[in-house]
Amino acid sequence: MLKAVTRLNPIAGIRMMSHHSPLSGKVAIVTASTEGIGLAAAEALGQRGAHVVVSSRRQTNVDKAVSLLRSKKIQVTGTTCNVGNAEDREKLVNMTVEQCGGVDILVSNAAVNPFFGNILDSTEDVWDKILGVNVKSSFLLTKLVVPYMEKRGGGSVVFVSSVAGYQPMQGLGPYSVSKTALLGLTRALAPDLGQSNIRVNCVAPGIIKTRFSSVLWESKSMTEEVLKQTSIKRLGEPEDVGGVIAFLCSDDASYITGETITVTGGINCRL
Ligand code: NAP
Repeated sequence: MLKAVTRLNPIAGIRMMSHHSPLSGKVAIVTASTEGIGLAAAEALGQRGAHVVVSSRRQTNVDKAVSLLRSKKIQVTGTTCNVGNAEDREKLVNMTVEQCGGVDILVSNAAVNPFFGNILDSTEDVWDKILGVNVKSSFLLTKLVVPYMEKRGGGSVVFVSSVAGYQPMQGLGPYSVSKTALLGLTRALAPDLGQSNIRVNCVAPGIIKTRFSSVLWESKSMTEEVLKQTSIKRLGEPEDVGGVIAFLCSDDASYITGETITVTGGINCRL
């Protein structure tokens, strides 16, 4: 059928194919991708035809994610990578280039939050850890992949910020500041990388049902509090964010750079 359409009308054929697999031939690194939003992003990119490279700190989690994605017929490679560790970041990028031939897409999704409380009680160690993993590693990974994206003639980078980056959440001061920094990093990188045909965008999720956010939805009363702020009266699912990330990485977003898309079910979170 596809052959027939292509023969009759080559342009229609190309359009049809690109609709089914718009990211066919692309290689995508997604960090912290063995569960939650990272895994959903890897799945969404893979469903659109990309070869995805999944990673996280623990090998058992990597193995599980790889077999899950393979069972869904997604082309996938996995490795361990703690994004806070320079050697791990290099290993991730080098392995991707050696095994997959290059890099077209980076989704920098990893984040930690080792502190909850009054911001004035947060220590230097807390700030080093949060800014190191959430912000600095996102920049340093971008720096590592840029030369490979340039070799391919362009690429796409997506950072995962948070609604907390717009409106700091009570008790999560340092984490919220790190997420605001990612909004700035997106804008700071976009003009320079635009010259290399590399787009840089960001997503800011609201409350998405994952292990990371479980304190916010495990009790009924907390869930009710959260839902008071949303227009769509349900918590977000990782897939709600994964599809938006895949959109930003696709040619449908070819004229979007330096932007952050909020995925919050309508929480009012514009700066
Ligand atoms: P999640 O479901 O708890 O998954 C966390 C993932 O990160 C796991 O695969 C974990 O695997 C990996 N990981 C943790 N530390 C890592 C590190 N240092 N290096 C590499 N991998 C690491 O979390 P999530 O909710 O999807 O969060 C993903 C991102 O979304 C984060 O940037 C978070 O700030 C952001 N976000 C989440 C929400 C929400 O409501 N869930 C809202 C706004 C923003 P290992 O344990 O094997 O390392």
